[in-house]
Amino acid sequence: MKSCMGHILEVDLSNGTIVKKKVPEVVYDQVLSGKGLGAWYLYKHIPPGADPLGADNIVGFVSGALTGTGALMCGRWMVVTKSPLTGGWGDANCGGSFSPAIKQCGVDAIFFKGISEKPVYFFMDNEVCEIRDASEYWGIDAVEAELKLQEIKSGKKKPSVAVIGTAGENLSLISGVCNEGGRIAARSGVGAVMGSKKLKAVVLAGNQKINCEDKEKVKELSKDLAAKVKKAYPPGVMKGRIYGTLGKVMGALPISLPLDGPTNIAPLRKWGTSVNTVMAVNMGDGPVKNWGGVPKDVSALAKSFDPDNILTRETKKYHCYACPLGCGGVIDISDLNGGEFAQTHKPEYETIQAFGPLLLNNKLKTIFYINELLNRAGMDSISAGNTIAYAIECFENGLIDKNETCGLELKWGNDQDIVKLVKLMVAREGIGDKLADGVRKAVEYFGPETAKYAMHVGGQEPGMHDSRFDPQLAVHFMTEPAPGKHTIGSGGMYGNMALWDICSWAPTAKPHSKKADHIPNEEIGIASCATACYSMLVDGAGGCYYGQLMGVHMWKLIDYLNAAAGWQRTGDEFLEMGKRIQTLRHMFNIKHGIKPADRHLPKRMQGDPPLRSGPLKNLTTLADDQAKYHWQAMGYDPETGVPKEETIEALNIPSLLALEAEVI
Ligand code: SF4
Repeated sequence: MKSCMGHILEVDLSNGTIVKKKVPEVVYDQVLSGKGLGAWYLYKHIPPGADPLGADNIVGFVSGALTGTGALMCGRWMVVTKSPLTGGWGDANCGGSFSPAIKQCGVDAIFFKGISEKPVYFFMDNEVCEIRDASEYWGIDAVEAELKLQEIKSGKKKPSVAVIGTAGENLSLISGVCNEGGRIAARSGVGAVMGSKKLKAVVLAGNQKINCEDKEKVKELSKDLAAKVKKAYPPGVMKGRIYGTLGKVMGALPISLPLDGPTNIAPLRKWGTSVNTVMAVNMGDGPVKNWGGVPKDVSALAKSFDPDNILTRETKKYHCYACPLGCGGVIDISDLNGGEFAQTHKPEYETIQAFGPLLLNNKLKTIFYINELLNRAGMDSISAGNTIAYAIECFENGLIDKNETCGLELKWGNDQDIVKLVKLMVAREGIGDKLADGVRKAVEYFGPETAKYAMHVGGQEPGMHDSRFDPQLAVHFMTEPAPGKHTIGSGGMYGNMALWDICSWAPTAKPHSKKADHIPNEEIGIASCATACYSMLVDGAGGCYYGQLMGVHMWKLIDYLNAAAGWQRTGDEFLEMGKRIQTLRHMFNIKHGIKPADRHLPKRMQGDPPLRSGPLKNLTTLADDQAKYHWQAMGYDPETGVPKEETIEALNIPSLLALEAEVI
């Protein structure tokens, strides 16, 4: 595939060897780059039973097949590994400029195995490629360490840096990898794997050219997309609180309406993802009080998260590499906590929801401060918020007492003690040490009677979208090889993406009754299968989730891929490729002892028993039954979730796995 570099780098931190290898062309042809290349490599090279924090585990940094080609919204970098949080497939991704930096070093991926004796970082530019001592950076937070590492002399003015904070160094199982001042590839505990290898950072400074087959076509597609995005800025008079009203209306309606993908662009450009909280709480999409229900005056809670109150602090907007939308921003927080931090990234919806409504905390200022604490430590805000919600509910129910909390009053909305608890988790001190590995590990410490308050799927805490609100999301939480992720699919996403326009077997989304939607059926199974397959293409290309949400007519991924590779493939053929990537990831899990059908949503997340008030009143999601339809559509055994032999054969996976990268 002309848009890929065709090579990978293998680094063994135990013995210091670095080997460059050529990847067989057919690998890109079958699974693209990104998660596809990662799945192919990790399946072959991580032995079953490997300790995720041991020398046999591999952590890879992978770019996308479209990154650097001129295709817009295709600059995500991915971290792939065996997750210490779930024991199975793990991945996380992030925007910024690190993805093109991988390819500019002449490779599509860098895979690290082994364990270094002392802290190191990996450096690469056009001439140099080496493992270097990182003693002076160890113990420093991700933001400060990145700034220091960017001062290193290299072939580039400012190298791109992926770095762990102290949470990763401390092997917190909910730690991620940061770049660009604390933006974080947060999920699956990928930071702990770097920490276990004593790998502080990867510093890249190459400037090699990235090619593609039909540059003119890619340019034309990008020009068209950029023009459409530019038009979509909402008028300045538009207020954020209107989304609260919209949420109330949508929450009260007995039906769900499929929304048009491009409607997402205007609010994302103006407010970023922070616009969602006020809407999500009112409509039932945003989990509240540890997923336990809604307070009487839910709209008063929602109002606290008016996104205009975040915009008043915004000092700068920013875009990821090659993105016309630019949902990012920096906000001034120099007035908080005695001026400890001058600024932080505009908090994402997931962070606001996890440290706001989920904890019944209505203090936005505290969330800004926590945002910076977590970004610097490199800790996943979704997992940290869910874990603190668990601890509060245990405390409220007398299952954890003040002796164990180091004197903290863990009460709903007690923002000051929540901040103290975040600091303890980051430092792994006192109760923070017990909570720094997420809720599943915390239950092992605090006892099985606390398990009913621990919201996780297969070990990973779920994203901030309610599975009772969206039964298709419930299926993705459960069946995704890296479970609990909210970015793979949902009913809402399905409507936005309009996959039926590129795929002959994907059903058209129609308005549907909320009640009927909760009855397991084949059509939802086919839709969730199509979504999972398409998501894998997005990740193979290095695409952004918000491009995916725009829909296939706006962000033309299929046309981009055909132009970049010189292919004339149909949407059906591409979704088959997506299924191949997803199946490889499932096979990775099975190889490592995961039984897909053993992964369930907590009862509370399914609405068992159903809530008695609020927008989710009386809604129950039969996720286990719906998952069977999903697996059937994927060509897996509907009872066990294991891919059938004939499916694996039809996807050419055995011949793909027989291929080896060759030393050059
Ligand atoms: S939409 Fe936002 S997250 Fe996605 S590429 Fe653009 S700036 Fe980055």
